[in-house]
Amino acid sequence: MTGGCSIVWFRRDLRVEDNPALAAGVRSGKVIALFIWAPEEEGHYYPGRVSRWWLKQSLSLLDSSLKNLGTSLITKRSSDSVLSLLDVIKSTGATQLFFNHLYDPISLVRDHRVKEILTENGIAVRSFNADLLFEPWEVLNDEGGPFNTFTSFWDRCLSMPYDPEPPQLPPKRIISGDVSRCPSDTLVFENDSERGSNALLARAWTPGWSNANKALTAFINGPLLNYSTNRRKADSATTSFLSPHLHFGELSVRKVFHQVRIKQTLWANEGNKPGEESVNLFLKSIGLREYSRYMSFNHPYSHERPLLGHLKFFPWVIDENYFKAWRQGRTGYPLVDAGMRELWATGWLHDRIRVVVASFFVKVLQLPWRWGMKYFWDTLLDADLESDALGWQYISGTLPDSREFERIDNPEMEGYSFDPNGEYVRRWLPELARLPTEWIHHPYDAPEYVLQAAGIELGSNYPLPIVTIDAAKARLQEALTQMWQQEATSRAVLENGTEEGLGDSSDDSPIAFPQDMQMDIEQENVRNRPMGVTRHYEDQMVPSMTLSTSLLRGASSEEQEEESPIDQRHLARDNNRAEVPNDVMNMEERVQVFDGQSALPQFNIQTALRNTQDMSQGESSSGGGTSRRERDGGVVPVWSPASSSYSEAFVGEDNSYLQRHPQVMNWRQLSQTG
Ligand SMILES: Cc1cc2nc3c(=O)[nH]c(=O)nc-3n(C[C@H](O)[C@H](O)[C@H](O)COP(=O)(O)OP(=O)(O)OC[C@H]3O[C@@H](n4cnc5c(N)ncnc54)[C@H](O)[C@@H]3O)c2cc1C
Repeated sequence: MTGGCSIVWFRRDLRVEDNPALAAGVRSGKVIALFIWAPEEEGHYYPGRVSRWWLKQSLSLLDSSLKNLGTSLITKRSSDSVLSLLDVIKSTGATQLFFNHLYDPISLVRDHRVKEILTENGIAVRSFNADLLFEPWEVLNDEGGPFNTFTSFWDRCLSMPYDPEPPQLPPKRIISGDVSRCPSDTLVFENDSERGSNALLARAWTPGWSNANKALTAFINGPLLNYSTNRRKADSATTSFLSPHLHFGELSVRKVFHQVRIKQTLWANEGNKPGEESVNLFLKSIGLREYSRYMSFNHPYSHERPLLGHLKFFPWVIDENYFKAWRQGRTGYPLVDAGMRELWATGWLHDRIRVVVASFFVKVLQLPWRWGMKYFWDTLLDADLESDALGWQYISGTLPDSREFERIDNPEMEGYSFDPNGEYVRRWLPELARLPTEWIHHPYDAPEYVLQAAGIELGSNYPLPIVTIDAAKARLQEALTQMWQQEATSRAVLENGTEEGLGDSSDDSPIAFPQDMQMDIEQENVRNRPMGVTRHYEDQMVPSMTLSTSLLRGASSEEQEEESPIDQRHLARDNNRAEVPNDVMNMEERVQVFDGQSALPQFNIQTALRNTQDMSQGESSSGGGTSRRERDGGVVPVWSPASSSYSEAFVGEDNSYLQRHPQVMNWRQLSQTG
């Protein structure tokens, strides 16, 4: 106990149980529980509408829980978290700051700056692991470097000499610090036009840490048993739906791990092999989430650059019309279009359908994968930068264990695999509702009389394919040839010791996002709506009230092949997933919501990064990548893999990239306070 009170800075750890920062604060004495809303710090990754809706609910429930324990959540609106922290310190007399680690590049840079500045101001700063089973620097290969494939990473996690820490109970009570001179700001997470759509979300989802626990219990006692066989059914409620809870840290991943393992032991004792297998596969899914943070920590540019070096030479197609057709679900491929309409309408997509639409985006349309990743970020309820980047990098063939880049999956075949009866497509594409199953996944091949009988006029009320698969295959081959030629030229240039010629494309900025990424409703969509239904932009779909039961319902078992994280072949069938609306607003609207101003908020990340660099220059580099394993010991994430630990093929091998991105280099220099 160092005197004064402690600030517990909540971020994406919105829970009171198994929250090491909160526990440390309570142990130290009086606590100021703080949340700072500074979305402009996220740069391009300003949270989307549905994500903000979730956050709002989650904060409200956290505040209620804190009040029950003896304090309340102080909320601050800011464009610079560090300044807000300094303000709160000044007005409360706090002498300590506790927070839990985040691993996305933006947070790592910001948290580094927080540590530096607060420590200089005499504040003790300690940080903890609340988001992962193991810290990234704990899971190392025999050479002490990071793993570069998921399987090797996860094998290592499962064979660690120690288990993840067991989860901690919530504190019995919290003694509140003096906040009489530190009033909360009212945080605005939605504007008037969003409110109607957001209200409907509440009928399908229940954010908040205690609800997350209920969802976990319901999953463990229900669908988990058949997860191994049912998880691939794209239109059924057979997975856990925990991703938004996990993203906001409402649920401790260690709690998930331990509770699921308890079930596994039970099933093992009963000789229940399918149950055991299901647990293994579910934990593997949790492992993918771990891996996303691991990749982000070890390759902090992975949300903007391909990890395999040669992919930087791929000639992406810069076509905003393709991009728009994909967003609107108007590509002419029913499974892709159904997925994109579901995403737009509900903020949710099953993992299989995420793979289908993303793969179509990258391989058939050959659009820059970052555009797709950003659109997912803007629209998904569980938008999570690390998982989003990992998913898109996998699909784009930019990781050593990615799907082969050459492979184009045919949406027609995938349709009959995942949606054999066409029910998913009919639900989301009412204009195809009357098409017989034989043609539902390839209306472009259907005879004219079949189309007429189904009321379909291709090119009018449902589009013809915007690119044929044959044309896409040919174009992909050409693009790959071009990529390898450029790569060879670049290599030759480097080997000849001259930088002239192609140079290193990691110099180039990533392909810019299109100006207008929002989902726009056009006349065409209006024509496609079911007869007699009038909908507003923000009221595209009304939630189905069958959700609560469907979420708990397991579907019938079907034999499935085991997959690598990248290998996907599977089925999908029936079910009653909830339908909730979604829309995506553009940047200008966002600014008005939060600031009531017309200009974009001016958080200058570059300045922040420069400041960080300046401040760290006096420090010595911490060298190798290993840090202490210490749950409550205030170990700070340190980004310091030795360059030799990288795969030859990785862009990360190229240290010049790092030197040109000082914000990344700075992570080597994070101080280890505690
Ligand atoms: C292109 C693409 C983009 C994606 N973007 C996101 C995203 O922004 N946010 C997000 O949480 N997930 C993302 N995923 C991963 C995955 O689709 C979702 O986590 C999963 O569908 C959530 O459903 P669930 O909670 O029912 O999953 P379950 O099958 O029940 O899995 C349990 C948990 O494991 C984690 N998980 C499962 N699969 C993955 C995976 N492939 N990668 C990382 N974590 C995983 C999630 O936290 C999930 O809640 C993306 C996948 C792809 C292919």
